[in-house]
Amino acid sequence: MNKLRLPPAEWRLVWQRTLVILAASTVGSWVMSNLVMMSLNEGMNAVGTVLALGMPTALGGPILLFLQVRSAQLREANRKLEMLASTDWLTNCLNRRAFTSRVSSSLGQVDGSGTLLVIDADHFKTVNDRFGHERGDEVLQLIAGAIRDSVRDGDFVGRIGGEEFGVFLRGAGHDVASGAAERIRAAVNALFVTSEGMAQRLSVSIGGAVCADDAGFSELFRIADRRLYEAKHAGRNRVELGRDAGNGDLVALTAAIG
Ligand code: GH3
Ligand code: MG
Ligand code: MG
Repeated sequence: MNKLRLPPAEWRLVWQRTLVILAASTVGSWVMSNLVMMSLNEGMNAVGTVLALGMPTALGGPILLFLQVRSAQLREANRKLEMLASTDWLTNCLNRRAFTSRVSSSLGQVDGSGTLLVIDADHFKTVNDRFGHERGDEVLQLIAGAIRDSVRDGDFVGRIGGEEFGVFLRGAGHDVASGAAERIRAAVNALFVTSEGMAQRLSVSIGGAVCADDAGFSELFRIADRRLYEAKHAGRNRVELGRDAGNGDLVALTAAIG
């Protein structure tokens, strides 16, 4: 029964398509019947008219409706499969493959500017060691929630490794990205994991790369990851976004490649 459930928009589509096809068949049937009767030199009588108008709906209506419902169910199942295939099971963020592919296609657009952040939970091994792996999983969910709450709806949030997340802030330059990264850092740092008298404050380190022009995912990732390493090295619980190069990180990018 559950698989019959369709969202209201799909039901609207089912009824619209069914009614349009039935209306077209009814008109076709009436025109054809008239032509046939005229060719036989006989006019259409009332019974003929009722049959010509009623037959398409009586014979084809139920089967047409059934086929439209089945096709809507198939569309819905495909949508759900696509969502499952692109979602990380634990945190509900995009998985690594979907995140990489969405950022890459966003970068490929005409105005593909934005900032890539790579976010790594600090001392996460200690969280697992002190509170257990299951609690560690819950903490990852908390961190993912804090990240999602700190960015805009159109930005991409993905889990790209065990305790590592990626965020692509679409259209964000250095200043906007710096504000968002700091919001994420502070939101996570306001969280604690507690159990049986023990408590540990959470934190993340963040490296970022600003892209104002045309750059691929792997180049941006390389820069952001290097800055994440710098943030870890400088003491963790901090954001390293580089100086504002004006033209995004293309300057840094050229230096990194060259
Ligand atoms: P650092 O501040 O340098 O990043 O230290 P760290 O302890 O976070 O880094 P390290 O790479 O030493 O350890 C990462 C830990 O994250 C170890 C691993 O067990 C844990 N981890 C990775 N994926 C998961 C997961 O899905 N669930 C849980 N509970 N832990 C995970
Ligand atoms: Mg870590
Ligand atoms: Mg890590």
